[in-house]
Amino acid sequence: MSGIPFYAKRWVSGTTMAEALEQTTQLNSKKISVTLDLLGENITSLEQARTCTEEYVQMLNEIAARRIDSHVSVKLTMLGLDINEDVCVDNLKLILAQADAHGNRVALDMEGTPYTERTLRIYEAAAQQFKSPEIVLQAYLHRTEKDIERVLRANGRLRLCKGAYKESPEHALQKMPEIVSNYKKLVAKLLREANRVCIASHDDGIIEFCKNEIKSAAVPKERYEFQMLYGMRAKTWETIANEGHNMTVYLPYGEHWQAYYSRRLAERKENIFFVLRNLFRD
Ligand SMILES: Cc1cc2nc3c(=O)[nH]c(=O)nc-3n(C[C@H](O)[C@H](O)[C@H](O)COP(=O)(O)OP(=O)(O)OC[C@H]3O[C@@H](n4cnc5c(N)ncnc54)[C@H](O)[C@@H]3O)c2cc1C
Repeated sequence: MSGIPFYAKRWVSGTTMAEALEQTTQLNSKKISVTLDLLGENITSLEQARTCTEEYVQMLNEIAARRIDSHVSVKLTMLGLDINEDVCVDNLKLILAQADAHGNRVALDMEGTPYTERTLRIYEAAAQQFKSPEIVLQAYLHRTEKDIERVLRANGRLRLCKGAYKESPEHALQKMPEIVSNYKKLVAKLLREANRVCIASHDDGIIEFCKNEIKSAAVPKERYEFQMLYGMRAKTWETIANEGHNMTVYLPYGEHWQAYYSRRLAERKENIFFVLRNLFRD
């Protein structure tokens, strides 16, 4: 693996698509699905946005050609949202058209609150034209309960996560017990009403809660999946898959790993200890 420093390798699968596809094949052999993510956000030229779009189209073609079990995740600021929304939407449409052609899925990752409304709006329009889009909502945002209604009216396909960006009390819950409690409230509704809800969390309390809800509401397997990040809780991925649930790993790759890596460090003090331990190893 070139380009990824040893302290970030835990969270980033490599710099190239070939490396990411190889990891995907290995995970598939353990009944674990993947969502592939090309790293990079807030790009500053439309040329870069176009190059990233082409890479996503190629990714979808490779997934289909190799019969790999994977969908893709993309950030709209990688497709040019900061520069020109129309171009961003055109780029997204190219990706969605390719995903539709292959019967695949495209998750629109959710970024910070300056992007929430625009991402939701773009998703709503895309869901009218394409089968493949899904959106990510963040349980820490005050607005998410209302946004869920919009998603249910669009195509009802989404990932629910806690939220990884630093947000003010005006926009987001600040205390973890409150975020967890809101997550549980929202996911209980989604497990009953969404067409597909992706439960993105490493939190044992949330995972157990969802397993109980799935059982008591007899949620069919095609309407939910558990999702975790590459580098976090690998044994638990296998346990969940072996219990018969759909399990997906979010697998990032690419040269632009710094922003993603910083968010992982900010999330949990254990992640910083992991890096420190490796810095001082023999
Ligand atoms: C698939 C996926 C996609 C995501 N997409 C987005 C997105 O589009 N936008 C966004 O803002 N955020 C996204 N996130 C990040 C998310 O918002 C959270 O910041 C991140 O997942 C941390 O919250 P958590 O619930 O996973 O666990 P944490 O809050 O980090 O941990 C809670 C508890 O989980 C358990 N736990 C966690 N890790 C471990 C471990 N390694 N070993 C043992 N126990 C552990 C512990 O009990 C811990 O106390 C995504 C996360 C995932 C998993």
